Amino acid sequence: MNISIQKVSAENLKPKPDENNLGFGKYFSDHMFTMTYRDGAWQKGAIEPYGNFSINPASMVLHYGQAIFEGLKAYRGKDEQIYLFRPKDNLARFNRSAARMCMPEIDIDEVYAGIRQLLEIEQDWVPSAKGATLYIRPTMIATEPALGVRPAKEYIFFVILSPVGAYYPEGFNPVKIFVTDKYVRAVRGGVGEAKTAGNYAASIMAAIEAQAQGFTQVLWLDACDRKSIEEVGTMNIFFVINDELITPPLSGSILPGITRDSVLKIAREWGLNVVERNITIDEVIGASENGSLQEVFGAGTAAIISPVGSLYYKDQEIVVNGGKTGELSQKLFDDLQAIQFGYKDDVKGWVDVL
Ligand SMILES: *Cc1c(COP(=O)(O)O)cnc(C)c1O
Repeated sequence: MNISIQKVSAENLKPKPDENNLGFGKYFSDHMFTMTYRDGAWQKGAIEPYGNFSINPASMVLHYGQAIFEGLKAYRGKDEQIYLFRPKDNLARFNRSAARMCMPEIDIDEVYAGIRQLLEIEQDWVPSAKGATLYIRPTMIATEPALGVRPAKEYIFFVILSPVGAYYPEGFNPVKIFVTDKYVRAVRGGVGEAKTAGNYAASIMAAIEAQAQGFTQVLWLDACDRKSIEEVGTMNIFFVINDELITPPLSGSILPGITRDSVLKIAREWGLNVVERNITIDEVIGASENGSLQEVFGAGTAAIISPVGSLYYKDQEIVVNGGKTGELSQKLFDDLQAIQFGYKDDVKGWVDVL
């Protein structure tokens, strides 16, 4: 792709943050990728110094919320090389989100080439500290200045980079989850399967109420009966019951996670009993009571695998595996991490080297 490149001069590069204290989403690299859409077409992309946008207060995203994003990571792993995990699957999902929100789709190959060029310039921002990564955030917003609910005619697509710390610097810490039947995340026919900004705005109140009571995250139930399990926070969820690995099906209200898909494929390869089916909170309680509930874990790019130590539902606490990380959770985490950091042979064609 023919993209223009404007680099920050050497003396104006930002000092790198302490790799052992990165947290999540606090620091941003020196450059970003931008591309605008107008007159019915994407214009030439650019790599330019990271900085503010100037947008019109009537920009349609500020009023009607046409905004979508993605989240993937660059991993510094084996032989100090930089690896990407299923990056084109993220861009394909970005286009599905775009279609759902009536936003223009991007050319996956061209944008991927632009992201690779950006990463090459920003290589030094990919941390080396154990478990730390460079988070990649592609985003699109509607910028046409106009009031009226309809698809905008102008957009900015951009990619910013943020070095992030290991999710579990001291090893796994199984989380306490609050099962909400007061709030819902998404409804079938809505936009739950799109990575669109409004879904996250809508989820904040439930999360802060749960956190105020000492829980890490919320488990979402379906919007109709408030019984079927959907997701945990911003992760997909898995249960091990009677040696069967169960995850809710992609019903339209669930975000189709790439980690979810990877877990399913790996588990099937290992010969496990894997099912995508509806599972209710009552079934989980029943399994806990009869001793067949073995493990619960979340799966997503940020944490990879997040073991659930307990679920709290209607004044009842369901402790999972004695509050400890399950065997399968640990094994999946280790395997996925080994693939993502390039230590394990990439037999599935999931990993790209920068
Ligand atoms: C991004 C996201 C996930 C996880 O998707 P990955 O591709 O595995 O990172 C799950 N649920 C929600 C709501 C999400 O936004």
